[in-house]
Amino acid sequence: MAEPTRPLPNTSEFDTGPFWKATRDKRLTYQVCDDCGAVNFYPRRHCMSCLGNSLTVRDASGRGKVYSFSVIRQSYHPFFRNVVPYAVAWIDLEEGPRLLSNVVGVEDPLQDISIDMPVMVEWEEHEDVCIPLFRPA
Ligand SMILES: [Zn+2]
Repeated sequence: MAEPTRPLPNTSEFDTGPFWKATRDKRLTYQVCDDCGAVNFYPRRHCMSCLGNSLTVRDASGRGKVYSFSVIRQSYHPFFRNVVPYAVAWIDLEEGPRLLSNVVGVEDPLQDISIDMPVMVEWEEHEDVCIPLFRPA
């Protein structure tokens, strides 16, 4: 029997498809508004700040900090129940986007993760997409 995998995103969705396609090359992208300069994340058609529709895609460095996190200790999902305890975290990238991910590469997520901890992206590879996870930097 195949190992269960995490639920994967729909890579053909109109607004977010280009973001997921870029992850195949391990590029973590975000949008910047050409009109007002606001950083937009997750990907969308219109700027969250000024509603302009001219958005430029940029590559993030992958460096960031933990904004907040929670440790999941119990899950009934076939993939996640095998990886508890694990940390779900809001990551603030140094360019400004905030994204929800996991902090990996720690022995004990209850002890080894803290607010403002520097992290670096780490890619979990799948056939059609790579998932951005973060480890202590
Ligand atoms: Zn704007």
